[in-house]
Amino acid sequence: MMKKEGYLEGVGREKRRSTLRNFNWFLLVNVLLACYLLFQRSTALNERSLIHLLCGAPAICSVVLVSVLSFVTLRQLVNRGELAAWRGGVFCILLLTLCWCGVFHHLIVNNNINLVYPLSLGLLFSSLIAFYLSPRLFFLFSIPILLVAIVENIFIHSAFSLVNLVSYALMLFVIYSAQSRLEQWFKLAIEREQENKQLIERLSKLAHRDPLTGIANRRYFDNYFDAVMLRESTLQMPFSLILLDVDFFKKYNDHYGHQQGDKCLIRLAACLESATRRSQDLVARYGGEEFIILLPKSDVCEAAQVAKRVETLLAGLAMPHATSEVAPWVTVSQGIAQWQPGQDREQLLRTADHALYRAKDLGRNRYSIVG
Ligand code: GH3
Ligand code: MG
Ligand code: MG
Repeated sequence: MMKKEGYLEGVGREKRRSTLRNFNWFLLVNVLLACYLLFQRSTALNERSLIHLLCGAPAICSVVLVSVLSFVTLRQLVNRGELAAWRGGVFCILLLTLCWCGVFHHLIVNNNINLVYPLSLGLLFSSLIAFYLSPRLFFLFSIPILLVAIVENIFIHSAFSLVNLVSYALMLFVIYSAQSRLEQWFKLAIEREQENKQLIERLSKLAHRDPLTGIANRRYFDNYFDAVMLRESTLQMPFSLILLDVDFFKKYNDHYGHQQGDKCLIRLAACLESATRRSQDLVARYGGEEFIILLPKSDVCEAAQVAKRVETLLAGLAMPHATSEVAPWVTVSQGIAQWQPGQDREQLLRTADHALYRAKDLGRNRYSIVG
């Protein structure tokens, strides 16, 4: 239910966004049509057409003026948020409709009926293209214009034929069906986009997660390391890593079985994650029974605190390890190294590896720091 609501909200938001994106184009079409009308009326300059031009100019110019003002206002409103821009857009469309009603009134009163049909058709189709995702906006713009065109024609000229009526009805049907077709395509496209997003998310999780423990894998660690190295070297901040290896894990497997060994690794990974405190710290499975903890903005002393916490948590967890030679529970050895300027990933890992082997040599279940 929640998912469905979220989806509908998402579609609604996307519709509003797309409609707002079409506004500039629609305003431009309005300006072009109004300019064409002015041009068309001023070409044959005889006395009669000059009078017509002067009578119609205020209405036609108001279309241009409202379009330009709407363009400027909407640009400002977008900065205040989508909803403010949307409300502004509705108001602009209402004003434009009124201006066009004035233009149609002028055309009909001055016997320019031949212009009414193509002009209304042009306006309806351009508003359909711009507002096909918002039927309310589309009807807000088109219905008043159509009403003026049809009703005034009937009342002023008493010349509205059946053919005209049928052509308007046909036009409405075509426009309405086109609107619903376009809206369906849009919904389909949004659905596909959301499916693709989910798929990409799932694939990227699969590519970056260790399937057994669920924590980050080595590939993710490599990418994360590069990003941390770039950031910390720029900011001249230290960062450290801890390489961990389970003590006597072969013996653990031999004694408890491989499946139990897997369970042990899963619990260990969770334990390591709980030993870190900051969101930018990363725990990753380095391979087999080896793990790595990357600690941005940390020197070796801070890394040693994390290593101590790991020891304490594991002692508290006390996963039995009957064949371990260091403790009756599962323990780890840890090698700590701090990044030095000029070191690359491999060099730092090698240093941490030396520290790890020293911890092993010194008896396991301990951490060692590269001096
Ligand atoms: P050390 O204290 O010197 O590290 O001894 P160790 O036995 O832990 O080291 P060794 O490298 O000899 O053995 C590692 C073992 O870890 C061998 C391997 O079977 C086991 N292992 C590696 N990956 C997995 C895994 O995904 N699941 C399980 N159950 N065992 C694993
Ligand atoms: Mg090992
Ligand atoms: Mg081991």
